[in-house]
Amino acid sequence: MQPETVNSPASIISSKTHGGRIYPAGLLMRAYPDPALIKKCAPVDVIDSSLESIINDMRHLMKSLNGVGIAAPQVGILKRFFISGEKVIINPIIEETSKDRSTQSEGCLSIPGAFGNVTRPNSIKVRYYDLEGEEVNELLSGMEARIFQHEYDHLEGMLILHRMSMTHKLKAKSANKKYMKVYGDKMNQGIIFKKS
Ligand SMILES: [Zn+2]
Repeated sequence: MQPETVNSPASIISSKTHGGRIYPAGLLMRAYPDPALIKKCAPVDVIDSSLESIINDMRHLMKSLNGVGIAAPQVGILKRFFISGEKVIINPIIEETSKDRSTQSEGCLSIPGAFGNVTRPNSIKVRYYDLEGEEVNELLSGMEARIFQHEYDHLEGMLILHRMSMTHKLKAKSANKKYMKVYGDKMNQGIIFKKS
């Protein structure tokens, strides 16, 4: 997930001082409408050093794009894990969601340039495994709950576009199209363009 406060589409597109950076080795950010983004992911069977190494690369990629969350299918891995803030989340389950909901603008690293309002429960009860293989039970609220739900959606093949009103969806899609027209080829070569 990408908060709207950083890298607003206008600043990215109009910036003349953007700098190109190469993605971490082996990882390519999948951009909408890549089919990997709409697939339901399979559970992680083994938590080992190769998973840890992929997660480290994903964290690097997420941070270099000013993201606050990144899910495995966004780099083409159809497995159930993601990073939410500083936390590594493996095989997550959302056990309960609060009745009170709020609406906030969200962006997605896989739909660069696009932002739009998404309504989600304010707090959630979750269960998952961490990188040490320990089961974690938590009650999340606020921004942390929002990021968790955004990334969890990715594991189900669900994107923010699927949760937006028609108006927001059309606006987001057109902003994404504009972005991809300018930076799409570079993105597909594994080069990030961001405001420097
Ligand atoms: Zn996303």
